[in-house]
Amino acid sequence: MSYKQLFGGVEAGGTKFVCATGDASNKLRATVKIPTREPEPTIREAIEFFRSQSAGGERLTAVGIGSFGPLELNKEAPNFGHILTTPKPGWQDFDIHGAFAQALDVPVVIDTDVNAAVTGESKWGAARGLRHCLYVTVGTGIGVGAMVDGRILHGQHHPEMGHMLIPSSPDEVEGFVGICPYHQSCVEGLASGSAFVKRWGSNLLDLPQEHPAWQLEAQYLAMFLSNLTFALQPQRIVIGGGVMNETLLSLIQERLHVALAGYRPSLAAAESVADYLVLPELNGRAGVLGAIAMAAQALLGQ
Ligand code: ZN
Repeated sequence: MSYKQLFGGVEAGGTKFVCATGDASNKLRATVKIPTREPEPTIREAIEFFRSQSAGGERLTAVGIGSFGPLELNKEAPNFGHILTTPKPGWQDFDIHGAFAQALDVPVVIDTDVNAAVTGESKWGAARGLRHCLYVTVGTGIGVGAMVDGRILHGQHHPEMGHMLIPSSPDEVEGFVGICPYHQSCVEGLASGSAFVKRWGSNLLDLPQEHPAWQLEAQYLAMFLSNLTFALQPQRIVIGGGVMNETLLSLIQERLHVALAGYRPSLAAAESVADYLVLPELNGRAGVLGAIAMAAQALLGQ
């Protein structure tokens, strides 16, 4: 019997798993949000959702996962597809790829949450049609997914650009050394949502706009984005996450323009930075849509 191919996407996050099915377009067929508990009940619920989707003339044919990490993505490694070190109870060394592949018996592809998001935004969102683009998330942590020449950038391990070292600002609160347990002054340690809570006991978006937190955040992120620009030369950077809004975006754009200092001719005019650094367009669906796109690419080569 012939059947219609259905692709599954999983955006595996620390607080929730978003699972969805679709047909390799930007339309989602069905979506479910599952609170992240320990692995066993969380994965069981996700598997039940996907099994319930194969019915009638449709069949689930591949699944993509965009997961929190760090992950082992080297296919030669015995622990390929495992989540590596994480403080989340039960998830350390958990084989998230294997759990879906064994239960669903379809091809499963896995990458980081930000790599899934850059796939989604470049296919259907704010970086549509661009071969070189970045997706930056600024939330509890800071992560970057990079697409270079139409491909997701990987090294021996997946990139961890949120741990890029940047100098602590002269405007930094005295004695504050960042929240990263590994580095005193990496961008995640200084500019993530967690850094704000530690420094001021509050989320950035809850602070009044005259509070120095806004300028400090813009300063750090502009420095970070300037480094990313010179390292990877994307055509556009999409920046999202729980800490981002329009106000912060304009503050960063101003400072980024200054930091780039006209060195890249296409970004020499202030207005060009407004088109270079933009908010996401997929409204929180970038990860799960990107995961579906990864599944479709793996199966159909699209
Ligand atoms: Zn760090």
